[in-house]
Amino acid sequence: MIGGGQLARMTHQAAIALGQTLRVLAVDPADPAAQVSPDVVLGSHTDFEALQRVATGATALTFDHEHVPTELLDKLVAAGVNVAPPPEALVHAQDKLLMRQRLSALNAPVPRFATIETADDAAAFAEQIGGPTVIKTVRGGYDGRGVLMADDAAEARDIAARYLGDGVPVMIEERVAMRRELSALVARSPFGQGAAWPVVETVQRNGICVEVIAPAPDLPATLGAAAQELGLRLAHELGVVGVLAVELFETIDGALLVNELAMRPHNSGHWTMDGSVTSQFEQHLRAVLDYPLGDTAARAPLTVMSNVLGAPEIPAMSVDERVHHLFGRMPEAKVHLYGKGERAGRKLGHVNIVGAPGQDLATIRERANRAAHWLSHAEWTDGWDGH
Ligand code: ADP
Repeated sequence: MIGGGQLARMTHQAAIALGQTLRVLAVDPADPAAQVSPDVVLGSHTDFEALQRVATGATALTFDHEHVPTELLDKLVAAGVNVAPPPEALVHAQDKLLMRQRLSALNAPVPRFATIETADDAAAFAEQIGGPTVIKTVRGGYDGRGVLMADDAAEARDIAARYLGDGVPVMIEERVAMRRELSALVARSPFGQGAAWPVVETVQRNGICVEVIAPAPDLPATLGAAAQELGLRLAHELGVVGVLAVELFETIDGALLVNELAMRPHNSGHWTMDGSVTSQFEQHLRAVLDYPLGDTAARAPLTVMSNVLGAPEIPAMSVDERVHHLFGRMPEAKVHLYGKGERAGRKLGHVNIVGAPGQDLATIRERANRAAHWLSHAEWTDGWDGH
């Protein structure tokens, strides 16, 4: 797996049970996956020699992020490496403009968008839309970096001019009036099998996913089925191998629009580790190894995942002690920590709460969010005192 982040760490965890060893290409021995895999290659994902070294003898080569340049992946394929997902699929998770163009050609619903060559192009598109727009870097964005909102044409022009002045390619699209964000997570194997998990709601703050509710509350069955079918169709049409996350907007009038694609395990699927018969990490491995896919059914009517995001000030209490206190209060909390140093806003781990039969959503959400906040802040949101 290229990249030694938390996704590789959790994929390795699933690999152990399948009798596999995940070799990781990590930048630093302290990277989350490098800490736990016995088979680490140190190097950069932009260094062809390092990519070759990690691929030698591997059954398949897959990813924890989408930052490997397409040219290098093409060279690996030419050298006989089984790259999964293949570069011609992965590029749709790397290049937002190409993704929008391909999805339009496939008649998949996307926000109205345009390419931008000059700042005037951005202003002209915003005028034509007659509403707020979003300017996005075509490549390299994640967690909301490289996504800027413009209220009017003048602002769109300014933002585009700044990026283009720095030589950064950008695109523009309408700002969608949405009810909420959803994610349709599916997997596809080279054999052609597909599997879809229940569609979830993702909650973002400052462009970062903070919470996932599985399944998406009050989602009309027809819309949920349409999102799953869209995910499976895109996985098939694009030739994806592994997990595909289709990030969706549910518009205020109840339609679906595709925001982004990710071809790897995804934050919107962390709930599956405890809330589904097959976790997304195991499923990604099954798909990449061309095994039959696992059952995607939920284990409970409701599961909530809350991200542990670094507090503005690192608490004096050790993480170990925080975990100890959390377990004292919430025996049902399933904690997944990534072994990262604490830094404000950084994704340090997540907590899953699998709802008990009859437990209402508000209670499950409150418990998940309270647990995650406690783990990063050493502070109970309701002032509870464990002593
Ligand atoms: P990243 O690659 O950084 O994850 P995204 O394209 O997913 O960037 O955008 C990050 C967030 O910005 C989205 O989750 C959504 O909240 C908001 N956003 C992105 N595009 C639009 C849009 N067209 N309309 C409204 N909000 C948007």
